[in-house]
Amino acid sequence: MRNLKLIDLKNNNGLKINAFCTNLFSINKISQINEFPEIVNTNPRLVIGSGSNIFFLAPDNQPLTSTILLNKIKGKEIIKEKNNKTFVRCLAGENWNDFVIWTLSKNLGGLENLVLIPGTVGAAPIQNIGAYGLEIKDRIDSILAWDFEQKKLVNFKPHECEFRYRNSLFKNQMIHDGWKKTRYFIISIDFVLWSEKESPLITSYDEVRKEIIGKVSPKKIAESIIKIRNRKLPDSNLLPNLGSFFQNPIVKIYQAKDLRKNFPKMPNFKVIENEAKISAAWLIDECKLKGYKVNDAGIYKKHSLIIVNYGDASYKDIMNLAIKIQEKVIEKFGICLTLEPNVISSSEKKAFRLSKFYYETYNHDY
Ligand SMILES: Cc1cc2nc3c(=O)[nH]c(=O)nc-3n(C[C@H](O)[C@H](O)[C@H](O)COP(=O)(O)OP(=O)(O)OC[C@H]3O[C@@H](n4cnc5c(N)ncnc54)[C@H](O)[C@@H]3O)c2cc1C
Repeated sequence: MRNLKLIDLKNNNGLKINAFCTNLFSINKISQINEFPEIVNTNPRLVIGSGSNIFFLAPDNQPLTSTILLNKIKGKEIIKEKNNKTFVRCLAGENWNDFVIWTLSKNLGGLENLVLIPGTVGAAPIQNIGAYGLEIKDRIDSILAWDFEQKKLVNFKPHECEFRYRNSLFKNQMIHDGWKKTRYFIISIDFVLWSEKESPLITSYDEVRKEIIGKVSPKKIAESIIKIRNRKLPDSNLLPNLGSFFQNPIVKIYQAKDLRKNFPKMPNFKVIENEAKISAAWLIDECKLKGYKVNDAGIYKKHSLIIVNYGDASYKDIMNLAIKIQEKVIEKFGICLTLEPNVISSSEKKAFRLSKFYYETYNHDY
């Protein structure tokens, strides 16, 4: 291990914590796929974008030794117009927000509710990114990916991707088989969009509607959401973070109703297929944890779902804070909060435990 050169991943993770690996390849062109057999077909491997949704547990004495592929494949184009729809292809290494702004500049609507979400286009389907009433699954026509198992390109239609709230076939595969055996490298995505005039507008959120003056349009929705997000979320350059650190828990409807009885101020919950999605931020607030810190890792004062690095937080600080939050919420509400970011650890067991099972992480000495 001592002979291996360490590569610093501080700038490849949203929390800007110290993390290291020993094999990192930048993939800039689709044609490099021909080099894949030499690089990765036989090795364990992981594909990353901008790291805005990855929590690395890989200090210098335990670096990641698997091959890490940094996706930098760029390009975007309008591929066809059919009936009232416009099909747009975007390669996976493009910045997501730049892509959304580009579609709006072409007078295309459909992606505006997802404006200002950090990260790359290729990572967007992994957790089925969503915001303000829209999930990316509803705008995807197809996904092209390299399948490391079959060693060929494969095409997915949305119904084959097992999209759920913050989840997909791709994310589940990584969780079940372990991230070192990542099976798919998403190469490009075809989106189905509309001209501004024909675009279905999603304004179900009061706060989005309130910001809009005059006639609603995709651009106005985007402007409104940009204002709201800039107000609510920390500036990642000043306070590194991974966005929401926990998913909103999905519980049985009767459990949500019981909670409402005991906590009448509980915000409205969303019903999805006979289950209720409740606010994780509210659960954390009720535990009086807003602003709580473990060394330089802290809960963001304006938004309890966000853990920020106030300076020199280590992965242990972040982890201990996350465990503290899980512990308090389970004590008060009996609800286990699941981590939203992908935990990538040099120890597979540690990553799996932290992302899935609270009880095993609790009191565990890392
Ligand atoms: C301030 C902030 C706000 C956020 N707001 C939202 C929000 O509103 N809604 C939301 O859903 N998310 C949100 N996120 C989370 C994050 O932006 C998304 O998950 C984003 O898609 C991550 O992109 P990335 O390129 O940084 O992916 P990474 O963090 O690099 O990777 C995420 C996962 O995807 C895998 N992956 C990445 N690229 C590929 C590829 N090409 N092929 C296969 N696997 C790949 C990685 O292995 C990893 O498991 C927010 C994050 C931050 C920091």
